[in-house]
Amino acid sequence: MGNRNLPRSKHADPAYKRARAYLIPAAHADPDTRCPAPGCGLTLAEKQRTKPGDGWDCGHPEPDALTGQARTTYTAWHSSCNRSHGAAKGNRSRFGNALGL
Ligand SMILES: [Zn+2]
Repeated sequence: MGNRNLPRSKHADPAYKRARAYLIPAAHADPDTRCPAPGCGLTLAEKQRTKPGDGWDCGHPEPDALTGQARTTYTAWHSSCNRSHGAAKGNRSRFGNALGL
């Protein structure tokens, strides 16, 4: 689709698309869902005390800290955590696709 020079990203991954389709509604349906982002760990209601209007997004799978192997399990992250984490990693170009709305 004209992006053949871009590295394969999670957004081209069918597993990501499937995960996103169920993770986000599931996270919204369960108020006890906690964000696994480093330094977060809050529920959405807790997060919204400091980030009104925040929502759930499908997080980036991180390399395992011990093995360095990419994880293939996606989890729901707060939108703001997901964006700030990706930006911190210098993945600015991936975000246009991540939002893909
Ligand atoms: Zn979070």
